[in-house]
Amino acid sequence: MIDWLTQYMQWPYAVALVAMTFLFGPYLVLLVVFPILNHYGFLPKQRIPGKCDHCRYNLTGNESGTCSECGNAIED
Ligand SMILES: [Zn+2]
Repeated sequence: MIDWLTQYMQWPYAVALVAMTFLFGPYLVLLVVFPILNHYGFLPKQRIPGKCDHCRYNLTGNESGTCSECGNAIED
């Protein structure tokens, strides 16, 4: 693995790059995978009482049943 890398960079940098990949690679995967799962709704939605599920707008005193900021229906 190091051999083809050393064609492009000096070996201490190649070793550092491989070491960093193994050390921080799993964390980078988590940083990519979890936001994607969250975006497509595969993770449980975090509900904050009194705030809109969609835009987190403060719904204190809202009686209309829809968020006045984004129009999202309010579920209780
Ligand atoms: Zn909203």
